[in-house]
Amino acid sequence: MNSDTMVKRTRNQEKIGGQPWLQAMAFGFFATAAMAFGGPALAQGPVAQTQLSGAVIFMFHRFGEDGVPSTNIRLEQFQAHLAELNSGGYTVMGLPEIVQAMGDDQPLPDRTVGLTIDDAFLSAYTEAWPALREAGFPVTVFVSTDVVDAGGAQYMNWDQIRDLAAQGVTIGAHSASHLHMIGPSMDQITGEIERSNSRFQAELGFTPTLFAYPYGEMSLAVRDVVIGAGFVAAFGQHSGVAEAGLDRFYLPRFSLNEQYGALSRFTLAANALPLGAREIVPAEPALTSNPPAFGFTVSEVIGPIDQINCFASHESTPARLERLGARRFEVRLQTPFPAGRGRFNCTAPADDGRWRWFGMQFYIPAP
Ligand SMILES: [Zn+2]
Repeated sequence: MNSDTMVKRTRNQEKIGGQPWLQAMAFGFFATAAMAFGGPALAQGPVAQTQLSGAVIFMFHRFGEDGVPSTNIRLEQFQAHLAELNSGGYTVMGLPEIVQAMGDDQPLPDRTVGLTIDDAFLSAYTEAWPALREAGFPVTVFVSTDVVDAGGAQYMNWDQIRDLAAQGVTIGAHSASHLHMIGPSMDQITGEIERSNSRFQAELGFTPTLFAYPYGEMSLAVRDVVIGAGFVAAFGQHSGVAEAGLDRFYLPRFSLNEQYGALSRFTLAANALPLGAREIVPAEPALTSNPPAFGFTVSEVIGPIDQINCFASHESTPARLERLGARRFEVRLQTPFPAGRGRFNCTAPADDGRWRWFGMQFYIPAP
């Protein structure tokens, strides 16, 4: 595959306005966040120069399967997303190239976007791929091999996955059985990845280098298995901008479905900038204390940070922030997360109505 098909640049000067309510909508906390953010952040002039570049990576599942709205994107929504990416000064880049640039400490173009599709639903082949190919946008499809082997009618078969790979689609790994990876023994996790790799090798003639955790659930022990298996990067399902300063084995992706698939929310996310969160605690996403003592330091590269807000996925008001010095933030919740997945979203206004965005997903074991 040549570089022309790996990277699709678009040129246009369209910019989004600063609309705090969009931010609130993105979190599902409409009214409270609108109050918390105050007024629009419509700074004039050029975007502040920072040395911190990143990529916004989107995650899709199904296309035009309107009976399953929580994992589906409607075709008219998807077409609007592609039109936006074709018209707004974005650089749509393949995930392998994004990861390579981060590893080499090479800057990514402003508004770099990566596209991913999880689970190998047939509609990715019949609906998404023709539109992506037409647009010239690279995409990565994360495949759970048992699911394909089972031959369900709503999933792609190996012929179709081979066809995608032959046309330049990146195939990533997503475990064999699409299991929850926190809980099973490390032998079981290792066996999942070995089985998945042997199926990819047999069917495609290669094994993937990129991994996506099912449900975005990661623990440090699971991460160690993924690294030990030779993957070069791994992805979660928490919002935020992927950048070289974050854990290469737990990179964020913005999830898109019918509820969060409006063009306004897509554009807001596509224009997001890194927050530059460093020294993130707790380092272990599989929580041992709840609520967690969540905290991070904002990189000095970002410049002054005046307004920052963090939301937890189970609370409807912004979390209390304790600021230590100029750049350290400790996030304190009123209530523990319920069992399962819990997320934080932290944002700060940037110039031109754009937002810096850092998210984190934790896993809370059942009591
Ligand atoms: Zn999945």
